[in-house]
Amino acid sequence: MLIRTRFAPSPTGELHFGNIRTALYSWLYAKKNNGVFILRIEDTDLTRSHKKFSTNIIQTLKWLKLYWNEGPYFQSQRISDYKKIICFMLKEGLAYKCYCGNEKLNYIKKIQSLKGVKKQYNRACRNLKPNIFNLNKYVVRFKNPIFGKVSFHDIIRGKITVNNSELDDLIIQRENGIPTYNFCVVVDDMNSKITHIIRGEDHINNTPRQINILNSLGAKIPKYAHLSMILNHDKKILSKRNNLLSILKYKKLGYLSEAILNYIVRLGWSHGNKEIFSLKEMISLFNFKSITKSSSIFDIKKLRWMNKYYINSTKKSIIKDLLIKSFIKKKIDFNNGPVLDDVISVFTPRSETILDLFNEVSFFYQDTWIKFDKRKFQSYFNINSVEILKRSYEEFLKISLWDVKKIFMVIKNLSKKFNVLIKDIICPIRIALIGKFSSIGINQIMFFLGKKRSLMKLKNFLKYYKKNFL
Ligand code: GLU
Ligand code: ZN
Repeated sequence: MLIRTRFAPSPTGELHFGNIRTALYSWLYAKKNNGVFILRIEDTDLTRSHKKFSTNIIQTLKWLKLYWNEGPYFQSQRISDYKKIICFMLKEGLAYKCYCGNEKLNYIKKIQSLKGVKKQYNRACRNLKPNIFNLNKYVVRFKNPIFGKVSFHDIIRGKITVNNSELDDLIIQRENGIPTYNFCVVVDDMNSKITHIIRGEDHINNTPRQINILNSLGAKIPKYAHLSMILNHDKKILSKRNNLLSILKYKKLGYLSEAILNYIVRLGWSHGNKEIFSLKEMISLFNFKSITKSSSIFDIKKLRWMNKYYINSTKKSIIKDLLIKSFIKKKIDFNNGPVLDDVISVFTPRSETILDLFNEVSFFYQDTWIKFDKRKFQSYFNINSVEILKRSYEEFLKISLWDVKKIFMVIKNLSKKFNVLIKDIICPIRIALIGKFSSIGINQIMFFLGKKRSLMKLKNFLKYYKKNFL
């Protein structure tokens, strides 16, 4: 059997981790079985769908290299196909027109609620003779079986059974003539011969209704796998509204697509204790058996850890290209400073994202003045520090061959001369040069800054200090 899976997002927001996990698992299952992965954009809800989100869906999948074999199909372009099937269903008595209107339906619901019974359409129009009213205000409802049960085997959760008496006669075409979401899904899954539907558990209630429609059309029932939700740290469900979690935002923040995919594949699926998976490994090891039934927690720390791993195991040239892009974006000339490969070698092991890396190294290429947090550094700085900085400046000025060892020798000699610890020399220099209390070796920093820039920054700092604090 040819495996056919699909990813069917609605373009009502930017893709987040939950969506991409659905896409990834569907993609992996298709790849593993030499099957077909289809992209379908469910944009029939015209008020909530936006083109910019369809673009976001396509860009996100492309960035992650989750390429599709068929599509993207847009449901909005298939309305006439859905309507043809609705006509057929009306003719065959599988569906019927309901003329009740919202007012009457609301009234029925109100009564039901007062009586404390389940709110359900009372099927008043189900047995009317077709076209009895010559009204064009109607919705089309599916004739859900009244008796019996509908059962399916969820690959993750096992057997799920619902009594048909629990299910309404679902509206499949609205008053405005547009077929409804549940109906379009069914028609597309049927026409695309989808064999495995992998989607979020928020769709689990739709499945029995969709199976009934598929049965009425004589279609083969696909297999279903409903994935548990992904929760935030505060146990709230991740939602499209939470912009922070849009995948492309992580691209902007300097995450690598490989790290994102690796992080996502582990959100609800495992293979022993293994954490790092190449794409090849994911494809060969992925299975439904190891998908968890419980919800997963989104953990940014783990994602950062994963990204650090990938940044450090990805080819340097790729990291360099990404870093250069950041320089260009910020309009900083990366030729006006140390050799990029050298700073990459030193700072990549300390960086979790490309943005971290950029923030660590960009000041080597700029003459601009760092803003100081006055209160913070005052406690570390005293009148001796000023003296130390002045003397350091003079000694550094004398260095003719500016290298890491020579700079360190000067610092060491100064500590002897002043009879203070090396850290008492390093601390004020570090504050003066980068405004921080910790960093890699200060001699390495000064080497990257170069002699001219280091001395200029020391001088500027002294001036600033004199002006503000003396
Ligand atoms: N369009 C639905 C959504 O974005 C998914 C439908 C499905 O997978 O069946 O949640
Ligand atoms: Zn009715």
